Amino acid sequence: PPRATIIDGKAFAAGLVDRVAAASGRLEAAHGVKPGLAVVIVGEDPASQIYVRNKGETTQRAGMRSDTHRLSDNTSEAELLALIAALNADSGIHGILVQLPLPAHIDSAAVLAAIDPDKDVDGFHVVNVGRLSVGVPGMVPCTPLGCLMLLKAELGDLSGLNAVVVGRSNIVGKPMAQLLLGESCTVTIAHSRTRDLPSLFRTADILVAAVGRPEMIRGDWVKPGATVIDVGINRVPSRDPVKAAEGKTRVVGDVAFEEAAAVAGRITPVPGGVGPMTIACLLANTYTAACRAAGIEPEP
Ligand code: NDP
Repeated sequence: PPRATIIDGKAFAAGLVDRVAAASGRLEAAHGVKPGLAVVIVGEDPASQIYVRNKGETTQRAGMRSDTHRLSDNTSEAELLALIAALNADSGIHGILVQLPLPAHIDSAAVLAAIDPDKDVDGFHVVNVGRLSVGVPGMVPCTPLGCLMLLKAELGDLSGLNAVVVGRSNIVGKPMAQLLLGESCTVTIAHSRTRDLPSLFRTADILVAAVGRPEMIRGDWVKPGATVIDVGINRVPSRDPVKAAEGKTRVVGDVAFEEAAAVAGRITPVPGGVGPMTIACLLANTYTAACRAAGIEPEP
């Protein structure tokens, strides 16, 4: 049986959604502001369709306005930019999220740059990247924000802890490292060129894995008692060979869970760890954006 405490991200996320929903209700009752999120999807990518549907449903369940704009695969960049301009100008919309990836004929960077930074609930606009780096209020990317919330809920004060983040993407790894630095951790960012990952990991009080390689991180790489946050979402063949032959899959993280749970102090499962926190943080960001737009201090 695993020794580590399993961090229940699903339960934490449900609690966060409830708190944001309640705070949004109070915002609407007291100030007549109903937080609104617009999600834009271009094309038919099946995984993206599922994400977008989940986002819409959760937003509505939280009592917020949810608009989904479904555009066809052959939408031009100019048409998409026109929609973003309209959403930027719409005072009932406080958050704009463009689901990635976009079709190859559209310049994603140009599209992200067109979003009003104050409505950029994904936190991908360079202005928000800069704000996070400088340490002034902005919009923080949802997945690393969710990881940080779990870490603070589990560990309290993080200052002085050694944190190793594996993965340096703009979506997860880099903003995660910035957030941990902001909490006064000693932060190392590892990536595909890092030498001797296992030795580095054994120094980590906090290990955040955002690699996208199924069960790459083994139990004997984990420092005893460490807190392990597994961001990875990887599809692998089902354990049952008959089902695997039928093409059935299961989802695993970047960490070999059973092995790591025997060594770590705390660990997030996949699924049910970081994943549910991402949508919850999207709602939290939308609520925060709505408060700021109205000049009201968001509830903590
Ligand atoms: P990217 O593919 O953008 O980045 C992966 C990073 O891992 C890169 O920095 C890469 O290094 C590094 N890497 C790859 N192979 C190795 C290796 N063998 N050793 C060390 N580092 C390696 O992925 P994302 O950041 O977008 O996502 C990471 C994972 O998190 C994926 O599984 C994704 O599905 C999941 N994810 C989950 C979310 C959630 O809601 N829970 C949200 C977003 C992502 P280099 O830069 O050198 O190439």
